[in-house]
Amino acid sequence: MSDIIQLLPDHVANQIAAGEVVQRPASVVKELLENAIDAKATSIQLIIKDAGKTLVQVIDNGTGMSVTDARLSFERHSTSKISTAEDLFQLNTKGFRGEALASIAAIAHVEMKTKRDLDELGTILKIEGSKIIEQEVVVTPRGTSIAVKNLFFNIPARRNFLKSDQVEMRHIVDEFQRVALVHPDISFTLYSNGSEMFVLPISNHRQRIVNVFGSKTNEKLVPVNEATEILNITGFVTKPEFSKKSSKEQFFFVNDRFIKSSYLNHAITAAFDGLLKDRSYPGYFLYLNVDPKTIDINIHPTKTEIKFDNEHDLYAIIKSTIKHSLGQFQIAPILDFNRDSSMDTPYEYKNKKIGTPIIEVDSSFNPFLDEKTASRVPSSNSFSSLQVPKKNSDDWEGLYVGLESQISSDSTSGSIVEFESEEVTGSFFDESEVFQEQITLQVQNKYIVSKIKSGIVVIHQHRAHERILYEEFLKHITINQAVSQQLLFPVKVSVTKDELLNFNTVKEVLENTGFVFSNVSNEEIEVTGIPSAIEDSKAPIIIHDLLSSMGNALEVNELHSNLVARSMAKSIAIKSGKSLTRLEQEDIVNRLFACKEPTVSPINKAIFITYSTSDFDKKLL
Ligand code: ADP
Ligand code: MG
Repeated sequence: MSDIIQLLPDHVANQIAAGEVVQRPASVVKELLENAIDAKATSIQLIIKDAGKTLVQVIDNGTGMSVTDARLSFERHSTSKISTAEDLFQLNTKGFRGEALASIAAIAHVEMKTKRDLDELGTILKIEGSKIIEQEVVVTPRGTSIAVKNLFFNIPARRNFLKSDQVEMRHIVDEFQRVALVHPDISFTLYSNGSEMFVLPISNHRQRIVNVFGSKTNEKLVPVNEATEILNITGFVTKPEFSKKSSKEQFFFVNDRFIKSSYLNHAITAAFDGLLKDRSYPGYFLYLNVDPKTIDINIHPTKTEIKFDNEHDLYAIIKSTIKHSLGQFQIAPILDFNRDSSMDTPYEYKNKKIGTPIIEVDSSFNPFLDEKTASRVPSSNSFSSLQVPKKNSDDWEGLYVGLESQISSDSTSGSIVEFESEEVTGSFFDESEVFQEQITLQVQNKYIVSKIKSGIVVIHQHRAHERILYEEFLKHITINQAVSQQLLFPVKVSVTKDELLNFNTVKEVLENTGFVFSNVSNEEIEVTGIPSAIEDSKAPIIIHDLLSSMGNALEVNELHSNLVARSMAKSIAIKSGKSLTRLEQEDIVNRLFACKEPTVSPINKAIFITYSTSDFDKKLL
C-alpha cells in the first residue's frame, strides 16, 4: 500500500490556525491593534462596519513595512518579533507567534497599505482566502492600514455562528478597551458605522480610564501602588460602594497584556472581603509588571491566559497591597461604621488548594433534630434569657443541672432565630423562578430533587448542608456573638506540637464560634464549652479535623475565619448516604437558598444543577 501521510497545503493549515486565533470580528480587532502597538504607533484608528462582519480596519502611524516584509507578513510563522526560542522568555511585544495575519488572510478579504518613513512609496497588497490578488506600489502615509472585509466569507458555518451585531460589537468594544486602557501613551479612536464611539487622546492611566468609562469614574478610583522584588503593581480599584453587579469593570494587565486569571482575580476580591454588597464585584484596573522570565504567555493561542512561576506569592502581594490601599484611603473604616455588621460576612470559596479533612464522622448524627423545629419557634420561650453571648457563660453552670438536654435544644433555637439571614437570596433564579411549593424527593440518599418554576433542581445534600453551616459559622465568627453550651464534662483533645501551634493561631476564631477552652497544655486542649449548634461528641472531631487540615491553608494567606468555618462545616455536615425525612429535605432546600452563595460549596464545588422543562422537551422529542 502506498504512503498515506501528506503535508497540509498552506492555505488549509492557515484556515485551521484561524479557527483558534479568529473566533469572531473582535479577535481580528485584537490582533490588528496589537500589531499596531508593536509597530510603535502613537495614533491608532479602528474603523468598524456592521459589528466587524463587513469591515474591521486598523490604521496606524507605526513603523510600516518594506515591500518584502509586507508580502512575508502574511506567511504562517512569519514574525519580526522573535528569532530564537530564548526570546520567548523575554517578550516585550504583544505578538510573537507570527500567525495572526496569515490566519486572518485565510478567512477574509484583506487589503493592506503600508509604508516606512524612509521609503518614498508604499505597498498595497490584496489577499483573499490566502491568495494574493494584487501587489502594487501606492502613495500612502507612513504606517500601516489593514482592512479586513467579509470575515468568514469562505466558512459559512462560522459566519452563521456569529451573534447579533449588538453582541459582536460589545466584544469589539471589550477588546478595544482592553488595549486602550493599558496604552494611555497612544491615542485611539473607534468609529462604528461612520460615527465616533471613542476618542481617546494621549494621557495618563487615570485620565484614560475616565475617558473610556466616563467622567463620573474619577471619584470612584482608589490608587494602588506597590513595588516589590518580584512584582510592581500600579493602577486603581473602585471604592466598594461603587461595586457592580457584573464583572465588567475588571481589568487585570500583566506586562501590558490583558490577562484572565481567576486565581489572581480571587486575590483582589478577597482584599475586599466584607466590604462588598452581596453578589457585587469590585471594579479594578491593575497593571502588574513582572520579570518576563517568570511567566509563560505561550499557553493559549489568544494569549489571554498565562502561567506564572510564583502565583502564590503574587496572590499574597496583590491581596495585601489592595487591602492596604483601601485602608490608607480610609475606605474600610468608613464603611465599617455605616454597615450593618451582619452584612460583613467574609467568605472565600474559590480556594481549591485546601486539603479536605480526612476523619469520617458519625453519620447517624442528625443536625435537624434540634434545629428544624427550633428554627420556626420564636425565642420567647422560658430559656431565651440563657441565649447570651458566650463571654457570660461562666455564670451558667448552676442553671444547667438537670436541664442540659432542654437547654441545648432551646439555645440552638435561639441561635438560629437570632442569626437566621433576613435576606433570601432569590437572585440566582429570576424573580419568576422562586420556589413555588416545597415538593422534595430524596434520590439515593444523596440528592434532593425539588421543583422550580422552570423545571427541577437537583441538590447535592452534603454540599448543600456544608454551605449552610459554613455561612452560619462565618456569621457567628464575624459578629462575635455565638452562643455556647457549657459542657457538663469537659472534653480533652490531645494534640501534637504542630497542631498546638495551629491551634494558637485560630484559637480566637474558634472561641468566636462558641468554643470555650480552659486548660491548654503542651499535649492537651481542654474544651469546656462548644457552639450550641453541635453535639458534645463532635467537639474533638471538629478540632482534630481543623488542626490537621490547616497546614496548606495558611500558606495562601487564607482568612482564619474562613478556614475554621469551612472545616467545621465539613466535619459536621450530613453525609451522602444519609436518609432524610421530607421536613429535613425541605429544611435544607430553604436554608440553602437563603445562603449568600448557594451555588457552590465552600471548596467551590457545584451544589446543584437545574433542568428546565425545555431540556426535557429536547430529550423527549
Ligand atoms: P506576530 O504579531 O505574532 O509577529 P502577525 O501575523 O500578527 O504575527 O504579524 C506578522 C508580522 O507582520 C509582524 O511580526 C510584523 O513584523 C508585521 N506587521 C504586522 N502588522 C504590522 C503593522 N501594523 N505595522 C508594522 N508591521 C506589522
Ligand atoms: Mg500580531
